[in-house]
Amino acid sequence: MKTKAAAGAKALTKIYGAGDSRVVALDHVDVEFHTGRFTAIMGPSGSGKSTLMHCVAGLDEPTSGTVFLGDAVLTGLGDNQLTALRRDRVGFVFQAFNLLPTLTAWENITLPLDLAGRRPDPELAATIMDAVGLADRLHHRPSQLSGGQQQRVACARALITGPDVVFADEPTGALDSTASADLLGLLRRSVDDLGQTVVMVTHEPAAAAYADRVLFLADGRLVDELAAPTADRVLDRMKNLERVTV
Ligand code: ADP
Ligand code: MG
Repeated sequence: MKTKAAAGAKALTKIYGAGDSRVVALDHVDVEFHTGRFTAIMGPSGSGKSTLMHCVAGLDEPTSGTVFLGDAVLTGLGDNQLTALRRDRVGFVFQAFNLLPTLTAWENITLPLDLAGRRPDPELAATIMDAVGLADRLHHRPSQLSGGQQQRVACARALITGPDVVFADEPTGALDSTASADLLGLLRRSVDDLGQTVVMVTHEPAAAAYADRVLFLADGRLVDELAAPTADRVLDRMKNLERVTV
């Protein structure tokens, strides 16, 4: 079945450095992230997961190849156009939360809309706030929230603009297992209830099992994929991957 892609890349290559320090981080990667689906990206450390996400999100510039986001082709866009595109079409969740400490939870969540001069869509905002479950904490600052609560705020901030894609880079990396499950459940519900497209880098099989599809990277190449993943099946594939790449 062919599903429409919310974002993707063709022959995406990213080379860092030159001479002795030359690193091929991505080597002709073809990928599509399906609309309204949850895709996980896995692979050994240094396999190019973050680079792939950053290139597709317009945070890093490919060496060659093309990247598309919604109906926009990113190749050749200037900095201002890329900044506007990221602001309007992309949501990010990072491992380190990246909330502004002087703003309340609510101000952090609505910051992307303020920057774009937009008002929250009341229905979307209500749905997100309900899913995030922080009604009594909205006027607290990040330092008054637990790690799990802060990451749920970061997730709400990523969702509030209704972006083409939410990119999450190891979003549960700094969370305990309960807070991880809450956050992953929130991402899952954003896909099921809001039709959000989510792309998440993780190294945890249990986290990848929340996705609809898992892509495996090794040495800058897509080497495998798994539909309807379970933690056990993900773990098996990862073992194979290590056998192939070591
Ligand atoms: P992953 O997220 O899978 O751990 P990365 O995408 O961060 O991998 O990195 C892929 C490769 O590119 C690694 O070898 C890494 O050292 C290299 N790399 C990443 N970012 C840079 C950079 N800014 N400068 C030089 N090398 C980089
Ligand atoms: Mg990384």
